[in-house]
Amino acid sequence: MTPNTDLNIALFERAKAVIPGGVNSPVRAFAAVGGTPRFVQRAQGAYFWDQNDQQFTDYIGSWGPMILGHGHPEVVTAVQAAVLEGFSYGAPTEREVVLAEQIRALMPSMDMVRMVSSGTEAGMSALRLARGYTGRNKIIKFNGCYHGHADALLVKAGSGLATFGASSSAGVPADVAKDTVVLEYNDVAQLEEAFAKMGSEIACVIMEPIAGNMNFVRASVAFTRRIRELTQEHGALLIYDEVMTGFRVALGGAQSLYAQQIPGFAPDITVMGKVIGGGMPMAAFGARREIMEKLSPLGPVYQAGTLSGNPIATACGLKTLELISRPGFHAELHLKTGHLMQGLKSEASAAGVPFSVDWQGGLFGFYFLPELPTTYAEVMKTDGKVFNKFYHAMLDQGHYFAPALYEAGFVSAAHTDEDIDRTIEAARQVFKTL
Ligand SMILES: *Cc1c(COP(=O)(O)O)cnc(C)c1O
Repeated sequence: MTPNTDLNIALFERAKAVIPGGVNSPVRAFAAVGGTPRFVQRAQGAYFWDQNDQQFTDYIGSWGPMILGHGHPEVVTAVQAAVLEGFSYGAPTEREVVLAEQIRALMPSMDMVRMVSSGTEAGMSALRLARGYTGRNKIIKFNGCYHGHADALLVKAGSGLATFGASSSAGVPADVAKDTVVLEYNDVAQLEEAFAKMGSEIACVIMEPIAGNMNFVRASVAFTRRIRELTQEHGALLIYDEVMTGFRVALGGAQSLYAQQIPGFAPDITVMGKVIGGGMPMAAFGARREIMEKLSPLGPVYQAGTLSGNPIATACGLKTLELISRPGFHAELHLKTGHLMQGLKSEASAAGVPFSVDWQGGLFGFYFLPELPTTYAEVMKTDGKVFNKFYHAMLDQGHYFAPALYEAGFVSAAHTDEDIDRTIEAARQVFKTL
């Protein structure tokens, strides 16, 4: 297709004139891989069609929410019915109560839930709640984990271990960044050092239990156990950011997987998003009752939202949760994702390409590295040129992966074995050229 007939290029040019970078969220801009973003016209099941009407097998699913695939008929019907009853009231509804009950039933670490409209909002509110509950200011986060774009969370490691963080975005005051301590993921020694130095000042540790924003990196069981012990010893809260993993890696979230290996394990606060809205703007955070009762209007920690618990979003989320609660849903999804990952890995090794994979439920990561990474620094050792070549060759053939080597991938229930076999076959050809 020439630039003159490529409608994605034409639209991207128009977009860049009126939207910064032509996109409403940076990773959509293809900055990491180069080239022109595909503008989506419509989507159905495991596919979407771009502005040129080219069909793609979708391995991002809106970065997680579309676990059932696009346009599941039962979800569409639920949303259509909700639309007819009104878009938003600014007053409570039954569906919010049912959804909160449903979330609590699936994730018993949460006695109570507060609904918001984005993962960023949920993470920011959870942080305020942890600080309000403990009366402390400092927070610990880990390099490579993403928790939305609140000021206190856009912080990278400072010069020395556990020294003051430095903001990773212009516009974040140094005064805000200084209370965020950034440590290496999976580094037990660093964590112990930080708690030994300032344990009594730490309000919370916030983490992705399986990091899905530095590709796919699991927290080790030893690391997870130590975080739980140290936070408890020092009176700090443990916040699990399950915006990506919640209802995607398992019905009970990543916390249910760690609880299988660490008896009695549970985080104090859980942050949810993506799947719980089924593609509509919906997120939430929850915790034990004594923590949640600190929230306004019961307690002194303020939090609010005009569109929070939106009636159309709750209809979409509830139907999605109902459908994924079917027994065996996540086990099937895990097998399907495994089929894709094992297929890619075996084709890569047949072609002599260093490659490693990991997956859980409908979330996956693959690396052009001989061994799975355990930290952000290791993830970033990936050869970007090799990834980009693979990425674009797959894209040209209609297989849409996340456009950056540090992003995870997503499989939905709508992907068939045939879809996945076609992707593996395409990759087989591409690996030979790398
Ligand atoms: C996507 C994501 C967020 C932010 O959610 P938004 O809805 O994009 O604001 C926060 N935490 C994690 C782990 C995420 O994957």
